[in-house]
Amino acid sequence: MAKRIQKILQEKQGTGRVTVNGWVRTRRDTGSFSFLEINDGSCLANLQVIADGSLANYDEEITRLSAGCSVIVTGDLQESPAKGQDVELQAASVEVVGWADPETYPLQKKRHSLEFLRSISHLRPRTNALGAVTRVRSRLAFAVNCFFQERDFVQVHTPIITTSDCEGAGEMFQVAATGEKKDTPFFGSAAGLTVSGQLQAEVYAQAMGQVYTFGPTFRAENSNTSRHLAEFWMIEPEMAFCDLECNMELATELLKYVLQDVLLSCKEDLALFDTFIEKGLVQKLQGVVDKKFVHLTYSDAVEELQNADTNFEYPVEWGVDLQSEHERYLTEQVYKSPVIVTDYPASIKPFYMRVSDDGKTVAAMDILVPGIGEIVGGSQREERLDVLERRMEDAGVDKQEYDWYLDLRRYGTVPHAGFGLGFERLVQFATGMSNIREVIPFPRTPGFAPC
Ligand code: ATP
Ligand code: MN
Repeated sequence: MAKRIQKILQEKQGTGRVTVNGWVRTRRDTGSFSFLEINDGSCLANLQVIADGSLANYDEEITRLSAGCSVIVTGDLQESPAKGQDVELQAASVEVVGWADPETYPLQKKRHSLEFLRSISHLRPRTNALGAVTRVRSRLAFAVNCFFQERDFVQVHTPIITTSDCEGAGEMFQVAATGEKKDTPFFGSAAGLTVSGQLQAEVYAQAMGQVYTFGPTFRAENSNTSRHLAEFWMIEPEMAFCDLECNMELATELLKYVLQDVLLSCKEDLALFDTFIEKGLVQKLQGVVDKKFVHLTYSDAVEELQNADTNFEYPVEWGVDLQSEHERYLTEQVYKSPVIVTDYPASIKPFYMRVSDDGKTVAAMDILVPGIGEIVGGSQREERLDVLERRMEDAGVDKQEYDWYLDLRRYGTVPHAGFGLGFERLVQFATGMSNIREVIPFPRTPGFAPC
């Protein structure tokens, strides 16, 4: 069995003979032998291989190796005299598995722009930056699951195909069988890809107590921004017997937990981002872990924005939704910290958010972070049947279609709350990547879905 380079570098030395599978990053010849830098994706660092001129395939093959070639190297680990590495591999054999023509292989040694790399999404994970993103994303997903499992949340797989479109009207992708007739749809009624697993998570919260879903979400938004994808992943916890306060607490703890985890587990990758992608990234993340989040009501936020000596593209007044420019002003300019904005006007929020005693606002909360804006959107849900029905009527939502949702308020209703955390926005925040297309392996945006 081959050994992962990360393991080898952690153990430093003394492990004797090992086999390593990987891809050549560089080759350098010095007289009677060659240095090969091998990467296997397990970590940012390469393993240095020394291939001696006495190897049987040295002239024929080893001296022809170039970036991108795949190899199996067996040899002995030894202390490295070179600076910056503890061990190197003295090769006993170098088997070339696959060649990569240096005339055409697009990943040459120079630094490529992230934009160019997007045009070769099938090769970009072989670069330092995108490899690091891939590892951090994986670790964040693991940490999210750990966080909820440690707190006895039950994971629920909510459907990807849905026939309810509460929020999604206009933003939905339709799902139909090939050749299906309009009057005999495959699922009995019009279906689409989910825009959120929340309503189904609510069903399970009112049976399992506290649940979370973590799955793909689809929105046909025609906004070509650096923070929107047509296909993204969302983490949506839902808790019974929980109000807005406990909802905010959970979201805060979740963010701190997963960021603390990557600070410890992905040091090397974060250091790369800190150097090349966002200066001060590690300090920023540590600050979020250590500091208290700012709490602000929507009304106070509006006042703050009205008093700002900044010319916003969209003017602010009580009752309008905050735009990204407003969110970023609050979190980046005013507070320089994550900000939780609560108590939005009922008129700009969906029917399921709980109406507060003032009759004007709902128990909603958004978390805004520097560089991104909204990363979390959540609320306490309306648990009172009569209020919910009134809100549905006002919003023009078909009560018949949501009878199952109303049943939850008819039978054993409880105060409950939850939120959605956009996973890619989290990965963006953790890596400092300014464009969301860099943090998902195969981004889907208007006009773009290769591979
Ligand atoms: P925004 O105002 O930024 O478009 P939203 O208010 O439409 O977001 P919600 O419906 O509240 O988003 O979804 C919950 C979370 O999902 C958001 O806080 C965000 O982190 C993430 N999210 C929403 N839309 C997208 C998208 N198109 N691509 C990536 N993440 C998204
Ligand atoms: Mn939102």
